[in-house]
Amino acid sequence: MNRQSNRIFALVDGNNFYVSCERVFNPALEGRPILVMSNNDGCVVARSNEVKSLGIPMGTPIFKVRHLIERHNVVCLSSNYTLYGDMSRRVMETLGGFAPKMEIYSIDEAFLDLTGFAHCDVTVYARQICDTVRQWTGIPVSIGLGRTKTLAKLANHLAKKAMPATGVYNLADAPDLTVVLSQAPVEAIWGIGSRIQKKLNRAGIMTAAQLCEVDDTWMRTKFGVTGLRTVWELRGRSCLNLEDAAPNKNILCSKSFGRSVETLEDLCESIAAYTSRAAEKLRGQKLAAGVITVFIMTNLFRGPRYVNYRTCELPVACNNTPELITHALDVLRRIYRQGYRYKKAGVLLDQLVPEDRVQGSLFDDISNRRRGRKLMAIMDAVNDQMSAGTLFSAACGLERRWKTRFGQRSFHYTTSWAELPIVRTKNGE
Ligand SMILES: [Mg+2]
Repeated sequence: MNRQSNRIFALVDGNNFYVSCERVFNPALEGRPILVMSNNDGCVVARSNEVKSLGIPMGTPIFKVRHLIERHNVVCLSSNYTLYGDMSRRVMETLGGFAPKMEIYSIDEAFLDLTGFAHCDVTVYARQICDTVRQWTGIPVSIGLGRTKTLAKLANHLAKKAMPATGVYNLADAPDLTVVLSQAPVEAIWGIGSRIQKKLNRAGIMTAAQLCEVDDTWMRTKFGVTGLRTVWELRGRSCLNLEDAAPNKNILCSKSFGRSVETLEDLCESIAAYTSRAAEKLRGQKLAAGVITVFIMTNLFRGPRYVNYRTCELPVACNNTPELITHALDVLRRIYRQGYRYKKAGVLLDQLVPEDRVQGSLFDDISNRRRGRKLMAIMDAVNDQMSAGTLFSAACGLERRWKTRFGQRSFHYTTSWAELPIVRTKNGE
């Protein structure tokens, strides 16, 4: 009854991606226990295999594992998202050359449609992909192959566990698929979170193989059409297609401050800086925003609490930094209250439309708008060539005492001329 899919999906996933990005530019970190910390160096967001085997879980606050860090000499790095984002772009560009269709699923994961490659040995082809990505970008990746996206995801999980040397696990032509599924716990399946896992376990379903055997109607009643789809996909019937990268529905720029902020002046600088960053992203996607939301909040666990946000509709949708900053600061002044220690602020741009399809207004100054566009184009070009933040609005401030702390951050090796890696020869030149 269930048609077997004749398609082949590959899920490519960067191994310990953030850590691998750091190792590319600092080979001395190879083989050492390394962890990457979240904003303000708070929690663990990425771990090398060595750190995983020390039993330090993802998301742990650093202070709780301080003793392990000291005992095992663990290298702790601040997160460097500029570097990770740029390395991700390089990996994705490389992958794009290997398949006619690709879905970028996260910063370090992509699905490839390899259906047209069924005539050749896809395992060999996948190894070739791993080798090329490693050679061109320095990033190690693992690949799972399957007849459906769900099986490809599971295969990737197995590639990391069972095949660390080759990095490829093929479930697309696996005669022992049932055996593999009987050894995979349901929680290892894509889309089965802890809530669904508990329900399934209570019904006596512990493994992927058992999940394949369930009654369709029962599954649908209990877990809806999404649950049923997962079961079909496990049985080898492809229900999920590659999705084109969805255009952003909104753009958010927000961060915790490095230290608490009290004055309106500091808040204004931070909001201006976040708005600038969001506007850059807008222009990068050739979009304009119709609505801007600004929010500020204090620490919710310590001291007097205050959270507020307000949204303002722009008279004409735009992507001009000074104009957006003016609106954002207007909003901020309305929600700011003196006497609080603010911990976080942010800017959300919404109602995004293509920049060439903006609805004008009768009283809009068009010549001014044209000049603004030129200015933004020049600013983006300079920042693109000379490194981000070379030109910026004075409203963003010079000192930026509120900035997020990155005490142990590596350099922006690939996106800043000033931070290029330096090569030294043996005689020290
Ligand atoms: Mg990964």
